[in-house]
Amino acid sequence: MNKDRKIEELENSNTQYLDEPRLLLSEMKEHTRCMILKVHGHGGFRHRIMELGFVRGEIVDVVKNAPLLDPVEYRIMGSHVSLRRSEAANIEVVSLEADAHPDNPFNGTIEEHVTHEVEERGKQITVALVGNPNCGKTSFFNFATGLREKVGNYSGVTVSSKTGTFHHEGYTINMVDLPGTYSLTEYTPEELYVREFLTEQKPDIVLNVVDAGNLERNLFLTTQLIDQNPLMLMALNMYDELQRSGSQLDIQQLSAMLGFPIVPTVAKNGTGINDVLGAIVKLYEHQHQITKHIHINYGEDVERCIRQIRTPLDFHEATLAAYCNRYAALKLLEADKSVTETVSALPNSDEILQIAKQCRERLEHEYRNDIATIISDLKYGFIRGALSETFKNGDDQKKQLGYALDVVLTNRWLGIPVLLLFMWLMFQATFTIGAYPQQWIEMGIEWLANLIHGILPAGMLNDLLTDGVISGVGGVLVFLPNILILFFFISLLEDTGYMARAAFIMDKFMHKIGLHGKSFIPYIIGLGCGVPAIMATRTLENPKDRILTILTIPFISCSARLPVYLLFVGAFFPKNQGLVLMGIYLIGVLVAIVTSLIINKVAFKKATDQFVMELPPYRFPTLRNTLIHMWDKSVMYLKKMGTVILLASVIIWALGYFPHSTENVTKQQQVEQSFIGRLGHTVEPVVRPLGFDWKMGVSLCTGLAAKEIIVSTMGVLYGADDSAEGTVALGTKLHEATDSMGTPFFTPLKAFCFLLFILLYFPCIAAITAIGREANWKWAAFTVCYTTMLAWLITFLVWQVGNLII
Ligand code: GDP
Ligand code: MG
Repeated sequence: MNKDRKIEELENSNTQYLDEPRLLLSEMKEHTRCMILKVHGHGGFRHRIMELGFVRGEIVDVVKNAPLLDPVEYRIMGSHVSLRRSEAANIEVVSLEADAHPDNPFNGTIEEHVTHEVEERGKQITVALVGNPNCGKTSFFNFATGLREKVGNYSGVTVSSKTGTFHHEGYTINMVDLPGTYSLTEYTPEELYVREFLTEQKPDIVLNVVDAGNLERNLFLTTQLIDQNPLMLMALNMYDELQRSGSQLDIQQLSAMLGFPIVPTVAKNGTGINDVLGAIVKLYEHQHQITKHIHINYGEDVERCIRQIRTPLDFHEATLAAYCNRYAALKLLEADKSVTETVSALPNSDEILQIAKQCRERLEHEYRNDIATIISDLKYGFIRGALSETFKNGDDQKKQLGYALDVVLTNRWLGIPVLLLFMWLMFQATFTIGAYPQQWIEMGIEWLANLIHGILPAGMLNDLLTDGVISGVGGVLVFLPNILILFFFISLLEDTGYMARAAFIMDKFMHKIGLHGKSFIPYIIGLGCGVPAIMATRTLENPKDRILTILTIPFISCSARLPVYLLFVGAFFPKNQGLVLMGIYLIGVLVAIVTSLIINKVAFKKATDQFVMELPPYRFPTLRNTLIHMWDKSVMYLKKMGTVILLASVIIWALGYFPHSTENVTKQQQVEQSFIGRLGHTVEPVVRPLGFDWKMGVSLCTGLAAKEIIVSTMGVLYGADDSAEGTVALGTKLHEATDSMGTPFFTPLKAFCFLLFILLYFPCIAAITAIGREANWKWAAFTVCYTTMLAWLITFLVWQVGNLII
C-alpha cells in the first residue's frame, strides 16, 4: 500500500481527535478576530455560507455579538455580513487573539502562527464509516489505518466507534469505524449512536460501505444518508462476491444517479482502498466531478406533505442549520423524536407539529398503513428503480409478485405494446362510458332551459339565463363525465404503480428527444389538464428536463380542448371521427417532440444527467384512494366551470346583446352590430389568411381564458334560435352556416384548420400562470409568443396548400 501512509497514533480509547476542543464562530466575543477553519452543516447550507465568503483561511472580525442578540454581525472580506447564531455555530474557527495562544513562541505574528495552524488542521479530514453490520467496515478500517481491529463474520462485533489516524496525499485522515446499522431511525442503540455521531460530531465526509452482494437491503441505509445530505461517497465492498455471482452492475451509471462517487473495493485483501482514499481527498477539496445533491422522490402525496411542513420551517432555516429543512420536514412527518425535539424549540413549533401530524394522519389513512412502512416502501421504490437500470442479477431468483409483474410490464418487447393497449383502453373507456351521462346532462340542460324560458317573461333576463348562462356553461358541462372518467383512469394508473413503469418503458425514447422518462407522466396528466401536469414536473430533478417538459406540455391536448374537437369532428368528419381526433392528438405530440428537440439544441447544450426512476411497489388500488386522487385533480376543472366559464359566458352574452337594437332585426344582424361583432371585425384581418371569419376570430379571443369557452362563444355567435341547444344542435348550426353567397361556410379543410389552430395556440391563462410560477415568467412569455406564432404559421400553410390541392 501507500508508503506515506504510516500509522501515527493508535487510539483504542475512542474518538481522540474528536475530543479536541473546537472553537465555533458563534462563541467568539465582540471585537475579536478569528480565522475560519471549517464550515460544517449540510450541503445546501454549506454552499450558501461559502458563497458569502466563509471559506477556510479567511479572517473574520466580530462586529457585534451581544449574548442574547440574534443575528450576529461580522466583517469578512471587507463587507459586513450578519449570520444567525445557529449558523455561526456551524463554522469552526481559530482565534487570532493573543490570549488564545499562550504557547505561541512569537517568532512570527499571531496571524502567521494561526495561518499555519489553520493550514495544518485544515488538512485533517474526519471520515465516518457507515454501513450495515457485516458489510466489511472494520476490514476496510483495518486496511486503511493499518490497525488490527477484530473482524468477525457475525454482526455486533463493533459495539462502539474506533478511531484511527493516518496520512494520505498530504492529508491527515481520521477514520471512525461506527457500529453497523440497517437504518438511521431511533429504534436501536446502534442507530441512535450513528445518528448522533453524524449530526453532532459532523464528520467531514461520510463513507458509506455497502455489501455489493446485498445491494437492495444495503442501499436502504444509503437512501437515509441521502436524505441527510452530507458530503458522501460509497465503497462498494465485497465486489469480489458480486463478480463471482455473475451479476453485473453499471457502477458509473449508479454513481451518476445517486450523485456521489462509488468505488468498488474488496476490503478483505485491500483492493480499491487507495482509490477510496483518493476519492475522499478529491471530495474534500470539492474537486470531484460526480457530486450533485439528489432528492429521493417520494411521490406526489408525500412530497406534498413535505412541502406543507417545510413552509413554516423555512422561516427558521438557520435555526435548524444542523439539518436541511427537507430532511427535517421528512423526519417530522415520520414523527421522529429527536427532530421533533429540536423543532419544539422554535417559536412556531405548535403550528409546524400540527401540520406534520395532520399530514401524517392523512397519509396513514389514505394508504391504510403506518407512516414508517409508507416511507420505507417508497425508499425501496427508489432503490428498485435505480437497480433495474444498472443491475443485472446473475442468478434469477426474483420471487416477489412485483418482480413477476415487472417481467411482463417492463419487458423489452412487451412493454410498449402493453402500454399502448392501456392507453387505448383508457381513451376508449373515456368516450364510450362517458357517452351515457353526457346524454342525461344534455337532456337536463334542455329541460332546464325550456323551463326557465317558459316561466320568465320574454326580455333581457330570460335571454341572459337561457342564451348566456345555460348555453354557455351547459355546452361545457356536457363534457364533465368524460373528463372525470379520464382523471379516474389517470389516478388509477398512478395508484397501481403502473405510471412509474410507463415512465421506465418510455425512458429510452424520451432520451432521444432530449427528455427523461419521467417526463412521460406529466404528459399523460396533461391529457387531462395542463395545470396539474405542469405541477407534476416537480418530480423531475433536472431543471433542464423540467423546463423542456413544461414548455412542451401545452401541445398535449388537454381535456378542455376536447369539447371543441368533438363539436367539429362530429359535424364535419362524420365518417372518420376517431381517426381525425387521433390525428389531432398526434400532431400535438409531434409538435411537442420537434419543439423539445429545437429548444434542447438552442438553449441547453449539456448532456442529460442520470436520474433514478422510482419503481414503487405494485399496489392494489383502493377505490377510495383513487376517487380521492381523481377528485383532487377534478376540483380545478369544476372551479373553472363555476367561475371562469360562467363569467365568460355572461360577458360574451352581454357583448353580443349590447348595444341592443330595439328594431326588429334578426339575431344575426343583432350580433353583427354588437360589441362582439365589432371586436370580431377588428381581429378579422389577422385570421383571414387562415380562412377564418370574424366569428371564429372572436371565439379564439375568448378561448384565451379557457379553451372550452370557444364552444360557449360559438353557441352564442351561431345563435341558437329560441331554445337553448346542446352541442349536437350547435354542430348542425355550424353545418348549415353559409357565407354571403349562400354557399356553406365551413368546409372540412376549414374545420380542420380551426382545430389545428386551437391545438397549437396560447394554451390558456391558467396554464401560462402555472408555467410562470413553475419555470419563470420569461419562459411563460416565450410560450405565449411561440405557441401563437407557430399556430398561425402552421395553420396558414395547411390552409393555403390545402386550398391549392382541393
Ligand atoms: P463489519 O461488521 O461491517 O465491520 O464487517 P467486518 O469487517 O467485520 O467483515 C465481515 C466479514 O466479511 C468478515 O468475515 C470479512 O472477512 C468479510 N469481508 C470483508 N470485506 C470483504 C470483501 O471485500 N470480500 C469478501 N469476500 N469478504 C469480505
Ligand atoms: Mg465491524
